[in-house]
Amino acid sequence: MINTRTVDIPDPARERKVKTLTFAITDDCNLQCCFCVQKRGKQYLSRKTVRLALENLRGRLQDLEIVSFYGGEPLLGFDRIRQVVFACRERWPGKNIAYSVTTNGTLLTPDRIAFLDRHRFAVTLSLDGNRGVEETGYWSDRMELLRVLGNHEGIQSSVNLVVGPVSLHRWSGWVQELIEKKVGTVWAVMDIREVWDPASVSRLNREYGQLTDYLLKAGKGSTEDPLPGFSHRQAGLLVCSGGEDRLTVAPSGTLWGCHLTWDFFHRYPGHPGRKDFQLGNVENPDWTGISRYHSLKQCYFSAGERFCVNCPQVKYCYICPFTAGLVSGEIGVIPPHLCRLEKIRLLHQDQLLVRKGTANGDGENRQRHG
Ligand code: SF4
Ligand code: SF4
Repeated sequence: MINTRTVDIPDPARERKVKTLTFAITDDCNLQCCFCVQKRGKQYLSRKTVRLALENLRGRLQDLEIVSFYGGEPLLGFDRIRQVVFACRERWPGKNIAYSVTTNGTLLTPDRIAFLDRHRFAVTLSLDGNRGVEETGYWSDRMELLRVLGNHEGIQSSVNLVVGPVSLHRWSGWVQELIEKKVGTVWAVMDIREVWDPASVSRLNREYGQLTDYLLKAGKGSTEDPLPGFSHRQAGLLVCSGGEDRLTVAPSGTLWGCHLTWDFFHRYPGHPGRKDFQLGNVENPDWTGISRYHSLKQCYFSAGERFCVNCPQVKYCYICPFTAGLVSGEIGVIPPHLCRLEKIRLLHQDQLLVRKGTANGDGENRQRHG
């Protein structure tokens, strides 16, 4: 487990106001996406849990800006989404809360789309690269859905495109298509469950090369950033902000600093860190664990035999310790193959930024890749 050598003492100053409140509607899903590392189940958030959450957390929700819905597939519990939206409107009349949902899109019926439009939702559509390759009609159906969403002024769409070795050869082409169709932000995500074979790694390098050429050509004179996470670089050490400005309510009513923490402990319920990171439940919130989140910094993580603190990429590398843990079983222990994929991303990002003439994009000395 990660070396948490920082504070055990709760720091009340860290109990800031929550800006993003996430409701994990369910751990259930109607698909089996190739990339999914979550544990499936049949738990659904109850009406009572929503009510208790909004009531008992109210002291921390005065600055609430975003309410998001997560799953499994959150649209399986669409009535609960409606309940939350109506409860927020009632509790904070006139307040401009931004709603967001991440979905596989299969349950987006016209009346649901109309609801999302009315309440000005940000809708992130998850696209499964494997299905795009293996299922006839999958890609064109999803493009049509994005077109329909784009016709609703109140909806701000974006895409999570997940590829792995099976679908990688289509990656740069798909990203180009999505950018040209102006579907909103494109998040390029890699399937990290398995170790990639050498041929896939070299294909990934080629795909990044093609993408770089495209972005340089397409981006001339444009200030848009259609591919965050690649076309721009943030510098600064990753420090987990779980619990600090965000909270997640799990279907069982437990509270977590982030939806990814819930994912991790849902998958590894017997993990000894649970007592440190669970922030009580909606009946009895307990903020003492927040300082634990803040102790999660990229420099304390490890990848294989190596500690990230010794890596020249440490301030550009952004790997969530719980996402890594979903694969490795330990918080902040980054599987070597995930580290390798991250290094490839950083290498190509470096080349893109140099060719764009923005060096590393952060005004600091450019670091060499090891
Ligand atoms: S580092 Fe991970 S767990 Fe922490 S806030 Fe970011 S996404 Fe959430
Ligand atoms: S690239 Fe690998 S070793 Fe370097 S900071 Fe990231 S995970 Fe750690």
